[in-house]
Amino acid sequence: MKWATLKIGQGYQVALGKGSALFLPNRGKGITLLEVLGSPDLQNQLLEQFRNEQGDWLDSQSVVFAAVVPHPEKVICVGLNYRDHAAEMGGAIPEDPVIFGKFSSALTGHQCPIVLPRVSSKVDYEVELVLVVGKGGRYIPLELAWEHIAGVTVGNDVSARDWQLEKVGAQWMIGKSFDTFAPVGPFLVTLDEVPRIDNLAISLKLNGQTMQQSRTNQFLFSIPRILHYVSRVVTLKPGDLIFTGTPSGVGMARNPPVWLKPGDHIEAIIEGVGTLVNPVSSE
Ligand code: MN
Repeated sequence: MKWATLKIGQGYQVALGKGSALFLPNRGKGITLLEVLGSPDLQNQLLEQFRNEQGDWLDSQSVVFAAVVPHPEKVICVGLNYRDHAAEMGGAIPEDPVIFGKFSSALTGHQCPIVLPRVSSKVDYEVELVLVVGKGGRYIPLELAWEHIAGVTVGNDVSARDWQLEKVGAQWMIGKSFDTFAPVGPFLVTLDEVPRIDNLAISLKLNGQTMQQSRTNQFLFSIPRILHYVSRVVTLKPGDLIFTGTPSGVGMARNPPVWLKPGDHIEAIIEGVGTLVNPVSSE
């Protein structure tokens, strides 16, 4: 299945995707995927309304997407998880995953603008496969990790490199948590629709030009290993988002470097998962 959270006026609405159409079940009014992921009963009711067509159909071009999960408890990120990106950043291959966070206030939706803050001049893009936690837990064993994932979506770990790397102490979290710096979507795609998750094409186009292009088989740390590792520290909750790292080709590693500017157009693309589109605007 494909699930989305839409914005309708000031409120939210859960939708299910089918082709280029969206189904808005009656029970999905006023709620987000966060509530759905936390309640198997509610999830079943929505699926039943989908089967019985108790709701409305809309064209996906005519709606406003919210972040796939708008207010998760946690947004967890893995740094340097692709062999090719770790090499371009000049670091050694890490022995354990590099983990940091983004404030959930940075989340935004498909087709919503990435707003360049006036206090940064080095804003960069990072396409990433994002895991959406379904069943929560702590100390999740490797062999049970997949049972805790509701699905995946496409994310862009937008990063102000001057704040992330040039301020005292290399402040990754603050450099990656500006408002609108975490677009995710358009859809949560359940795992049964993503059969070869460990070998998906992943790419990013800036104004139509391919800047990042790799495959998830470049992961240094597998999805079960990431869940196992992080859940030794925190209790994962339904709706938590886990950004799994970006491949090579980021703007800061280019010569000359490429920084985002107002009017840019970004497409983050993952095979079988979707295309997340965001324009870039100034504050
Ligand atoms: Mn990243």
